Amino acid sequence: MINNEILIFKSWWNLASPTLARRPSALMLVGPSGIGKTSFSREIAAAMLCETPLQEDHSACGACQSCLWMAAAQHPDLRWVRPDALAAEEGDFQESADESAPVETVEPGAGEKKKSQEIRIEQIRGLAGFTNVGAHRAGLRLVLINPANRLNYAAANALLKTLEEPTENLMFILVADGLRGIPPTILSRCRRLNLPISDSELSRLQLAKSTVADWLLPALTAEPIDPLRWAERAGKSPPADVLDLLQRWMNDVARVRFGAPPRHFSSHQTALQTHAERLRSPQRFSLAMAELQRQRAVADHPLNPKLFFETIFDRFQRAYV
Ligand SMILES: [Zn+2]
Repeated sequence: MINNEILIFKSWWNLASPTLARRPSALMLVGPSGIGKTSFSREIAAAMLCETPLQEDHSACGACQSCLWMAAAQHPDLRWVRPDALAAEEGDFQESADESAPVETVEPGAGEKKKSQEIRIEQIRGLAGFTNVGAHRAGLRLVLINPANRLNYAAANALLKTLEEPTENLMFILVADGLRGIPPTILSRCRRLNLPISDSELSRLQLAKSTVADWLLPALTAEPIDPLRWAERAGKSPPADVLDLLQRWMNDVARVRFGAPPRHFSSHQTALQTHAERLRSPQRFSLAMAELQRQRAVADHPLNPKLFFETIFDRFQRAYV
């Protein structure tokens, strides 16, 4: 089922359905940054891999084994390719390989400078094992490349070779903020889907995001952590945005703790310092981060948003005990 909380998904879905029905070997989703393309690409992936898609609109059922794997962010027939730097920021919410691996606690210095902002050729070559083996379920395997604008020259060439010789039951979904930086040769191999968004919807989405920062940042910087009260205040805030801000905050706390400058909230250095000093156990902090990470699987549409908020703020609080 398509996430109804994001109304625009429904219209995007209607737009995408005829293309998806033909199961293109490569699909490119294009739209402005921050409108939910990543979440939508996951909806598409879930639907394409679902064993019993809904009859009404062919979207994912949410209940079959494949959908359960999707929800747990560990589908064996799905690979997610993104720049290392982005992966470090976002955590392993979509990697299927090592769910058990702890979420990376940022340790600046060692290796941090090496984290690439680009999608590297090794990442495309690394798909070979995946794209050449049989699928676990339903026959289809999916590779999500996001953001496709960050494919470097060599990686784009390697991808092109793969796209030129489509493998049966293998589908690529590329997600891009625009066409800048994408070689025409790649473009010509993809079915392109421009995701339309009205100015009013765009500002509504931006407003929702800034509204989260409006109440959550002051709370983080000045108040004791109070899961129940904060959950109440979260009210109708988009759950994924609240979780996202919380995770970025913790990322910065970890950085400050290791003596690195914050990456996301540099204007809140003092509060980050206070949080960093309150950390008693790095293990607990890592565990809390990992638990928050797991919540990403349901953040797009939690069954019970209030309970979701209570849970994430509770996990967050546990980082400091
Ligand atoms: Zn399903």
